[in-house]
Amino acid sequence: MNSTSTLPRRPRWRSLALLALILAPLLWPLEHLAERYYRNELLSQNRQTLDLYVANLLGTLHRYEVMPQILGDLPALRAALANPQDKQAQDAANRLLTTIAQQTGAEVMYLMAPNGDTLAASNWDKRDSFVGRNFAFRPYFSEAMEGRLGRFFGLGTTSAKRGYFFGAAVRDGNDVLGALVVKVDLDNTETLWGKTPEQLLVTDHNGVVILTSNPGWRFRATRPMSEEEKQAIVANQPYPTRDPRPLLLNEPDWLTQTQQISETGWSVNILAPRMLVARPVRTVVAVGGATLLVLMLLLGIMMQRRRHYLDRIAFEAKARRELEIRVIERTSDLEGANGRLRQEVLEREHAQQELFRAQDELVQASKLSALGTMSASISHELNQPLAAIRSYAENAEVLLDHERTEDARGNLKLISELTGRMASIIAHLRAFARRDRHAPESVALQPALDDALALLAKRRRAMEVELIRDLPAATLWVQAGETRLRQVLGNLLANALDALTEKGPPRKLWISAEHTDGGVNLYIRDNGPGFSREALERAREPFFTTKTRTQGLGLGLAICDTLMRALGGELLFANHPEGGALLTLRMRVGASGVNLQPPEDLSA
Ligand code: ADP
Repeated sequence: MNSTSTLPRRPRWRSLALLALILAPLLWPLEHLAERYYRNELLSQNRQTLDLYVANLLGTLHRYEVMPQILGDLPALRAALANPQDKQAQDAANRLLTTIAQQTGAEVMYLMAPNGDTLAASNWDKRDSFVGRNFAFRPYFSEAMEGRLGRFFGLGTTSAKRGYFFGAAVRDGNDVLGALVVKVDLDNTETLWGKTPEQLLVTDHNGVVILTSNPGWRFRATRPMSEEEKQAIVANQPYPTRDPRPLLLNEPDWLTQTQQISETGWSVNILAPRMLVARPVRTVVAVGGATLLVLMLLLGIMMQRRRHYLDRIAFEAKARRELEIRVIERTSDLEGANGRLRQEVLEREHAQQELFRAQDELVQASKLSALGTMSASISHELNQPLAAIRSYAENAEVLLDHERTEDARGNLKLISELTGRMASIIAHLRAFARRDRHAPESVALQPALDDALALLAKRRRAMEVELIRDLPAATLWVQAGETRLRQVLGNLLANALDALTEKGPPRKLWISAEHTDGGVNLYIRDNGPGFSREALERAREPFFTTKTRTQGLGLGLAICDTLMRALGGELLFANHPEGGALLTLRMRVGASGVNLQPPEDLSA
């Protein structure tokens, strides 16, 4: 396909030119046909002209043919013949002939004596009068005298006009008295022809041109003459010359049509120049050639168009094939990619199974570690009340030593309460671990805060931490759990004290609370170092701690956050603009009044 589209265009045109060359001979029959047609046209047209002309010529001749015989019977003419010396009779004959010639249109009429002398003539009164002249040498005279109708073409010897002579004998019984001659003017018939490309050519029995539309041809011989003919010409003098020069016509230039007039021995010819045929034929051939050329051109254009069309189809087919190939390639690429993808999916699935297995192992491991963490957490949460119990117990010992039994009893009561709290904490840890949920209850905030502060009172005093309380006088009721709230508050306050240990005096601790839209906010602020950047992000995570000195477990804030959320509240921590940490406890407002529900028992 490629090879055809890159073929040079030229050969196509060359083959077209070749085709034109092959078809060109078709012009020859065309020319032939056209020539035949135009020639026939011309011939038929000229045939009519010829017929018309001959008829006219014959008509003219016939009109005068019978005249000499009829006139010969006229008494006046007979009288003139009978008395050649009688001037009166001759004069009468002259006048009669003039009148008749005028009436019939004959050129001349004249009466001849048997010796050939003209006795009377219609032109008796003209300068070139025939009267007294002898025309015995003219054949019409001898023929008439022999009793026949005399005929003769000839140039008038005096008038120099061409004419046709009819002569007839004038008889008296068997005697011939003389002859009467009528001359018809033929110059006229020539001038009738007019100026056409076709030429008229009338030759007499000698083949000499007597009438023609071309004055140059007049009295030329169209054929060589015999000696007899030449002698007759010399004798009869029908022409202005005794030896007519030959007519030189280039035959092929002319289309000749001929009609014979037997009675005069003439042949009437129409010579039509071949140019009259050649010109329209040339036009036809030119038109034919042009048509052929146009056809060739159209054919060429059609072939070119077809070629373009084929090229386009080939191009499109090629493009389609290329596209198909590309599609096949792409499909195979895609299949390959698909296979790779499937392989990858398989590998992923495999990896995922590996991961699950690893996760299982990790869970197993973390369960073990969680166990350790749990015990650490428990000890952390219990250490504070334990420390308090120890100090109460030691104090009670001292009080008993001093027999302050009542005070010692008070300490013991406190110890008993603390153990109850410890049991509660343990239960809580368990609840935390199990994600147990207890319905929140309405708890008074201030007493819970007092309890938490009391637990840390000794340490706070030892650290000389100034406590700045800004709490409303009216009890703030919040939705919480009694123990869980104390646990949270204790944790937050212990953290604040931990932070303050890292800083020299003055150490301050602010505690404030306010009502918000449908809630209560409690703020615990210290002027310690505040949360580190990392602690701010991660303090909620279990086991995150920055404390090394006090052996922090990193569970305090995690537990607080979990408890607060379980209670429908929120724990927020941030740093105060003036330094130190600011922790915010957001809680829902609880129903105010007496706590109707029994304090939550988490021992179970
Ligand atoms: P622990 O007290 O065992 O470290 P927490 O969960 O209670 O665990 O606290 C996590 C961390 O939060 C602490 O290690 C400390 O860095 C930071 N933090 C908590 N409270 C304060 C505070 N009041 N001031 C500064 N940092 C604090």
